[in-house]
Amino acid sequence: HCLDKLSGVVEDCCCDYTTVNSLNREVLHPILQRLVRTPFFRYFKAKLWCDCPFWPEDGMCRLRDCSVCECPEGEFPENFKGIISPSGGRLSSYDPVCQEGKPQALVDRTLDPKAFRGWAANRDNPWTHDDEREEGDVTYVNLLLNPERFTGYAGPSAARIWAAIYRDNVLAPHDKLAPPESRVLYKLISGLHSSISVHIAAESLLDESANKWGPNVTLLHERVLEYEDRVSNLYFTFLFVLRAVTKAADYLIEAEYNTGNPSDDEQTAVLVQHLVRNEQLQAACPKPFDEAKLWQGKDGAQLLLQLQKQFRNISAIMDCVGCEKCRLWGKLQILGLGTALEILFSEDSPNPPVLQRNEVIALVNLLNRLSESLIYLYDLAPLVEEPSTFR
Ligand code: FAD
Repeated sequence: HCLDKLSGVVEDCCCDYTTVNSLNREVLHPILQRLVRTPFFRYFKAKLWCDCPFWPEDGMCRLRDCSVCECPEGEFPENFKGIISPSGGRLSSYDPVCQEGKPQALVDRTLDPKAFRGWAANRDNPWTHDDEREEGDVTYVNLLLNPERFTGYAGPSAARIWAAIYRDNVLAPHDKLAPPESRVLYKLISGLHSSISVHIAAESLLDESANKWGPNVTLLHERVLEYEDRVSNLYFTFLFVLRAVTKAADYLIEAEYNTGNPSDDEQTAVLVQHLVRNEQLQAACPKPFDEAKLWQGKDGAQLLLQLQKQFRNISAIMDCVGCEKCRLWGKLQILGLGTALEILFSEDSPNPPVLQRNEVIALVNLLNRLSESLIYLYDLAPLVEEPSTFR
């Protein structure tokens, strides 16, 4: 695997791999793990309907609340079968297996009424497609009950989402003419994709009949460790989001973490302060990413609008993810990336923008996922050599 080959400074960032690994393991990861368990950070608001604005021909994307349907083939609604494309041919992308029906793919919507109070949103982020305003349609989800892991979502539906993201919405990584800002967008998506794959590998369903879960190191190797660029893009995304969190330090320290329980809320505020004003981080890696090096080209304003449009498209594509739990984490992490992009690329930089509560929750949970992925990579990579122990 490629971990041994990674050395020096993470490409396009300002810290080296060794420093990032030790800072993450010893300092940031423990804080983040505690932070995402606090009542404030463990609830996320999302519209989880499968309300896909693309591929209208695909019946599965238009099934409202198809998560409650078991969808064995015989019960799949007749009118979604055998749909004919505008050109008259049968659609090859049509997949009659309802991914939503798998129990491991469903979102557990249980809320703890003592720990949770709803909240209102009030502002648009130019990077994201926010449809979480219609309060009637939104769900509040306890993220701790819904870990990101293997769900069984795969096949043409999943492949189509990734293909649409890479093909239509981010520039090819090796395009020599691509401006550095477009490369950033590609790396962020690729790094997030790596992180999702690492979480699938770290918690896989090894034996469905025995409900046995564990790491699938072969999958980790084949999807991530074999590709140096996918691993380095994961580091890049981690450092980019970390930079956004520390850049918004003043704002995050001033913010209210009010859930109605003063001792919980005080603990949350203390943990946030430890994260965003961390002395060890400031000493070892004061600026994980340097956004000031970007936007030097003459067409900056136009490029910014174009990248925002591309990212909004990616955010809208999340409504087409055909597995409820994947959609939940897809939406959360894309919102987290959109928030990081807004903090680092906002027009009134250096002043960070006013953030919504859900954006702050997404940002911190995204950082935690990326931080976990770096830990999993190193903990699981040695097992790759002994594949017989695991699958
Ligand atoms: P995929 O991961 O689908 O990759 C498709 C293609 O993209 C690859 O063939 C390769 O060419 C390219 N690629 C892969 N990784 C990278 C990278 N890091 N950088 C650049 N290019 C890359 N499944 C779950 O079990 N649990 C989940 O929580 C989950 N969440 C998902 C969230 C979203 C938003 C999406 C779109 C899918 C999610 N899935 C989830 C499905 C999962 O990501 C895979 O699509 C699925 O497991 C099939 O994997 P695959 O091997 O076909 O390759």
